[in-house]
Amino acid sequence: MIGWVLKKILGTQNQREVRRMMPLVQQINQREEQLRPLSFEELRAKTNTFRERIAKGESVDSILPDAFAVVKNCCRRFTEEKRKIRVRGQEIAWEMIPFDVQLIGGMVLHSGRIAEMATGEGKTLVATLPTYLNALTGKGVHVVTVNDYLAARDSEWMGEVYRELGLTVGCLQHGQSQAERRAQYACDITYGTCSEFGFDYLRDNGMATTPEDQVQRGHFYSIIDEVDSILIDEARTPLIISGPVTVSTHQFDKYRSSIEGLVRKQNSLCTDWANQAKERVEAGDLQGAGRFLFKVKLGSPRNKLLLKFMEDPGTRRAIDDAELEMYQDTRRTELYKTKEEMYFTIDERNSEADLSEMGRKFLNPADPLFFLVPDLITTNHDIDSNPALSAEEKLKQKQAAQANYEEASQRIHNISQLLRAYCVFEKDVHYVVQENKVIIVDEYTGRLMPGRRWSDGLHQAVEAKEGVQIDRETQTLATITIQNYFRLYEKLAGMTGTAETEANEFKDIYRLGVVVIPTNRACVRKDADDLIFKTRREKLNALIEEIKKRNGAGQPMLVGTASVESSEIISRMLRRENIPHNVLNAKYHQQEAEIVARAGERGAVTIATNMAGRGTDIKLSPGVPELGGLHVVGTERHESRRIDRQLRGRCARQGDPGSSQFYISFEDDLMRNFGDSRRIAGLMTKLGMEDNEGLQHPWLNRSVETAQKRVEQRNYQIRKHTLQYDDVMNQQRTVIYSWRTEILTTEDPRKEVFETVDEKIGAEVEARAGADPVDLDGLVHWANTAMPLGLQKEELQDAGNKDSWKELLKRRVREAYELKVKFENPEAVKALERYVLLGAIDRLWQEHLYAMDGLRTSINLRAYGQKDPLIEYKREAYGMFEELMERIKGEVVLNLFRSASSLSAFEHFLAALPQRTGRGELPMQAHAQPTEGSLSMGGGQAGAVEEALAPMKRQGPKLGRNDPCPLDPSKKFKNCCGASGNKVCFKVAA
Ligand code: ADP
Ligand code: MG
Repeated sequence: MIGWVLKKILGTQNQREVRRMMPLVQQINQREEQLRPLSFEELRAKTNTFRERIAKGESVDSILPDAFAVVKNCCRRFTEEKRKIRVRGQEIAWEMIPFDVQLIGGMVLHSGRIAEMATGEGKTLVATLPTYLNALTGKGVHVVTVNDYLAARDSEWMGEVYRELGLTVGCLQHGQSQAERRAQYACDITYGTCSEFGFDYLRDNGMATTPEDQVQRGHFYSIIDEVDSILIDEARTPLIISGPVTVSTHQFDKYRSSIEGLVRKQNSLCTDWANQAKERVEAGDLQGAGRFLFKVKLGSPRNKLLLKFMEDPGTRRAIDDAELEMYQDTRRTELYKTKEEMYFTIDERNSEADLSEMGRKFLNPADPLFFLVPDLITTNHDIDSNPALSAEEKLKQKQAAQANYEEASQRIHNISQLLRAYCVFEKDVHYVVQENKVIIVDEYTGRLMPGRRWSDGLHQAVEAKEGVQIDRETQTLATITIQNYFRLYEKLAGMTGTAETEANEFKDIYRLGVVVIPTNRACVRKDADDLIFKTRREKLNALIEEIKKRNGAGQPMLVGTASVESSEIISRMLRRENIPHNVLNAKYHQQEAEIVARAGERGAVTIATNMAGRGTDIKLSPGVPELGGLHVVGTERHESRRIDRQLRGRCARQGDPGSSQFYISFEDDLMRNFGDSRRIAGLMTKLGMEDNEGLQHPWLNRSVETAQKRVEQRNYQIRKHTLQYDDVMNQQRTVIYSWRTEILTTEDPRKEVFETVDEKIGAEVEARAGADPVDLDGLVHWANTAMPLGLQKEELQDAGNKDSWKELLKRRVREAYELKVKFENPEAVKALERYVLLGAIDRLWQEHLYAMDGLRTSINLRAYGQKDPLIEYKREAYGMFEELMERIKGEVVLNLFRSASSLSAFEHFLAALPQRTGRGELPMQAHAQPTEGSLSMGGGQAGAVEEALAPMKRQGPKLGRNDPCPLDPSKKFKNCCGASGNKVCFKVAA
């Protein structure tokens, strides 16, 4: 109450924020008036004046009033002359001059915050103000849109202002060549989607081998349109560039038919239980029925009979009771027993699948342990405490146990992913099969996401289930989360109609404040209370009736659905009623934008998933306001309140009339999984719910919102979790990428090469000198196998201490290298030196990414061992990274004398080496090089050149992860290199 009074007196913090900006608005408007008498030439000349002021050191902030005034004045001139602009093939007459609230929006964006402005408030135009202002610095402003169509539309439409004022505008589109992209980034302003920006960053930093291959020129300022959709919804899937993996570990084909059998068995078991539950219900034994149904829920959460019982408040409560009872601590053993009565259990909420003893027996009657993760800790303990074993035997046995453990984990992982594929992932809901490919459907937006793949083998498991070609497993070549990409910008800003509910997340993760900007005209939308039904069928029937009624009167309607599937169901029902309508699934951006733009016409019925047509304005046609404007119906509450607000916001723009209502049922996923069903069912009984008839009450809305908040919280935790793991990766990526950039841009790559080589020499000398006894032989052997130095042990002995050994080695390397360079094409030398470094970094970094993926998976298993997986992950990731750096140095040393710009150069060099070098130790099976100067690798060629260079870069045979280690054939190569011995391995492989 006191808070409310204070708010009344002082206004909310937000209102104060907005009020503080009012004087600046007046200033802009005054200056804009002064600009009116100028000629267009004189107006345009302002741009250069501003640039000069900035060049003289004036701050961008101080130019804001003048710059905003110039943009506003430019808009006024366009409006007065009714300027026609070609936007996506259509002529649009310019008729907008920024309102005061839009100027405020522009200031918020300039200050690096999020401007919440309702749909239809003209955010596209708002962005031009800070974009123009910041582009004056020449550092490049990036405007991020949700799809390619909007990037093109906005760059053409708003581009008119920038171009008129003497700035250049570019636009990224999928499929553009590298040269085209470079040209877009070279502009003062670049529009594009977040994937285009993000992938360019990855290609620039993870793959480009010359500065010319890089397309971006820094990360200065970015404005993200529909910022919630990008930073929150999209942020769940990181951007990944991948290539095929060399060794496959999947066995989905092998287990597919047994899993099919297993799922069949389980289903018939669960159907039996469901039938028994039915009998109990009929006999009036609800409690007994609840117990059976709970088991069905564990074993087959999408069982039809179960879903039916979940609709009924009475049986639903019985199930919840049974569940609650089972999860009490005292009942743990009983729960365990229950789980053992079925073949496996599925946790739909966490998407997890677990085999039971019965399931393991079914899959492998001869050896049920085959599908059990061995208890490594106990095994190791037993080995350690066995006095009969020598240290060496202990080590051997432990390694065998470790290998056994890894194989079993892999196997179980395969099975568990297949179970998820069969029992949780539904065709046409979670994915579609098109042209023999499994394509993910974004569950929230209904958008198809071609090219994206579920990670961790799930995608292959679904491919196995659908009997389509199982794509080769892919390996990550470069990856970044959207969060970390946008953190690269010096300044970040965003705009959307719905940010407020997620303000905490924006603050925590992106340090972005949210300012809610008042609408230009008061919003008169009427939001009705939710209508709640018992079943989906009843809900949809009522919905169709409502559509018929309003459509009969001519009122346009927008029907928002949560999935492609439900769009299609509603469309079928409308067809039966002969009601013409359009269905949008966010697949064809341009056509859908055109359809959505007409959704406000008399009698229009438009069904859309929530991303479809986003960014397109719905204008009402004449006569429609009198009918109440656009009516928006949500056919389901979304997991997130924000998405519901977004849907509602599509009507009643700019003071138009409009209304909205949500239809929900107990069968909706949100209610099934997260609804506080018992409370709601109680409420419904209390409020006297009749069959077939929807119930409406503010209490019910609140219960639904509670469920939504719970999911929002959980999803936030998931995103945060992903980010915490990615932060580790992000630090490493920053180190590697900035090293790469240094190499690409330095004028003196040789200096970089020798710094690296010297560090390696230092480490090798220290290791040998530190050994007891000092291992001079080892040092000589290393130096001579890694490089053509022809070093004699006596030379080292004569030199004296370890510091002088280092000096000696460094000098000899330089001498040998001078000799080598003599035979090289001078033009090619720098490229070659860059290659020596980049070749090593890229190959090993990618291997490292692969290993990090593996670490992620195995760490989760460790969660059972009562260790904090994140801490474990950080610790091991750090160790692996240190090792990576050492390995890179080692490989640079190896590359140094084994890369040449041509075979003849290489041969001449070998011939010129003094006899004592024992040239035989240099692998001479070198392939001819691509000719001089062509060592740079653009995009796709990288692989080919890599392959051509492979024999020179690598000593000895190429080893797969599963090949025996050349040092110790009892181990697999991947294992022995994992923790300790890899340096030795790579070397002795020669
Ligand atoms: P939002 O992205 O905020 O939903 P849009 O940028 O799509 O809104 O703009 C919605 C509509 O409002 C567009 O048709 C645009 O032409 C119009 N509009 C924007 N600003 C103004 C203005 N200052 N005066 C008149 N019309 C405007
Ligand atoms: Mg918009």
